[in-house]
Amino acid sequence: MRISIDPVWPWRLALLIATLAGARWTPLAAQTFPTDDPVIKRIWAIGVDSSQVEHLSSVLFDSIGPRLTGSPDLKRGNDWLVKTYASWGIDAKNEQYGTWRGWRRGYSHIDLVEPRIRSLEGTMLGYSPGTGKRDLTAQTVILPRFADSGEFVKWLPNAKGKFVLVAGLQPTCRPTDDWDQNATPESKLRMDTLRAAVQREWRNPDVRGTGYSLAIGTGELGIRLEQAGVAAIITSRPKNGWGTIEIFETYDTRAPAIALSCEDYGLVYRLTEHDQHPTLRLNLDGELLGERPVFNTVATIKGVEKPDEYVMLSAHFDSWDGSSGATDNGTGTVTMLEAMRILKTVYPHPKRTILVGHWSGEEEGEVGSKAFSEDHPDVLRGLQALFNQDNGTGRIVRMSGAGLPNAAEHIAQWLGKIPFELRNQITFAGPGFPAGGGSDDFSFSCHGAPAFGLGALPWDYGNYTWHTNRDTYDKIVFDDLRSNATVTAMLAYLASEDPTLITRERIDLVAAAAIAAAAPPPAPGAPAAYRRIPTTWPDCVPAPRTTSPRLK
Ligand SMILES: [Zn+2]
Repeated sequence: MRISIDPVWPWRLALLIATLAGARWTPLAAQTFPTDDPVIKRIWAIGVDSSQVEHLSSVLFDSIGPRLTGSPDLKRGNDWLVKTYASWGIDAKNEQYGTWRGWRRGYSHIDLVEPRIRSLEGTMLGYSPGTGKRDLTAQTVILPRFADSGEFVKWLPNAKGKFVLVAGLQPTCRPTDDWDQNATPESKLRMDTLRAAVQREWRNPDVRGTGYSLAIGTGELGIRLEQAGVAAIITSRPKNGWGTIEIFETYDTRAPAIALSCEDYGLVYRLTEHDQHPTLRLNLDGELLGERPVFNTVATIKGVEKPDEYVMLSAHFDSWDGSSGATDNGTGTVTMLEAMRILKTVYPHPKRTILVGHWSGEEEGEVGSKAFSEDHPDVLRGLQALFNQDNGTGRIVRMSGAGLPNAAEHIAQWLGKIPFELRNQITFAGPGFPAGGGSDDFSFSCHGAPAFGLGALPWDYGNYTWHTNRDTYDKIVFDDLRSNATVTAMLAYLASEDPTLITRERIDLVAAAAIAAAAPPPAPGAPAAYRRIPTTWPDCVPAPRTTSPRLK
């Protein structure tokens, strides 16, 4: 049907938009409750009918923004969490666990000024020094291929005062699926070969023969270039998606480090390669603030009957700061925040103590949660269950006992008490395996405590939002977020009310790994969690209490 364009339609459209915006979320027409538990029914009602996830998200992602560990923005976020909990009558505090290098992100203005004018899409890496809000204008040089580190050292004087390009030139900025759909088999093969060659040529730790690593930003190579007097370092870490790059960190303290989009990095690289002598002008406002206190925000609803036993909600609060940290891990944060609000409303006097950890320093190696597990042996000892969420905005679809067979029995019972429509989304893997690291449940699971990851549907997390310049409010799937807060509140309630405490016998990992090895290999693209089969229980790693540089 064609849309007839008449003078009335904009009003109709406006009315339609207003109606949709005001519409209440009715995701599942007929919820089916397996029990008559009135608390479960009320959790559903509050979580679905008077959800606050949109409001909380707009404050967190639009007003507060990214939350890099050590940044004043993260501290502002911590303070907002405490205030928000206080407004709901929930005790919360910021708990210092150490210090981390502080840094304030200001603006990044990056222009190509020769041989033509173009404002470039890019930004400072996290913790980059700025240019003192002054223009810094220089020409570019591509890091050459060196035979060995001696040759690199001899070359270094050529880089003095220059902007050094330290990433390869991508032969295409189109994602692979576009090539899969449109390319002839011959050009697809050719492109795959070219891309693989660029990756090989510029890989860590021997970036082009210097012997140094860029780590996840500029690493030890950046420091060496800074010592040689380069003006700035230009990087690019494109993802396999349109317009997305990863933005991490530098340890340079004088020479700024910037990340450019795949397209604009390619432009500057090609102009340099073709002797067009491109000139860039940077005007960057970034301020290194030295070691500063860093905090976890912890909120508590005290248990009435068993105050020394704990049900813990968990999600890291810090983020990388190339955008707003909306799906990593803003959505986990909002899930836990909203779950606590629901619990305080419908279950204000829990049997066991319910607490939530909004961790800092996760992106630096789960530092905040490791520190908490070390500083609170009482919580570790009395932990009934910890629920962690940290893989994006999607619906929770995977759970396991994280290597504890008795936990699997308890979880199976809890899942049996939540509405079928929510339960049926979740693939429950039984006892499963202990967390392998990569998020905060590991900090508890490594001690053998019952800590569970709530695995979400990806929504192209890996290619588009994870650690990128595109992790913003608009990527949030609010229907899924409401569903997740509701499920999490139900699980916390059921874990709190459970008549018995989970016991901590571990699965026989050697036997389990042998069975897994005999099974057919997982389908390509299966979640990493299914591929990692440890044969020994993972060891805990002490939390660094001050900045621990990652240079390699
Ligand atoms: Zn994360």
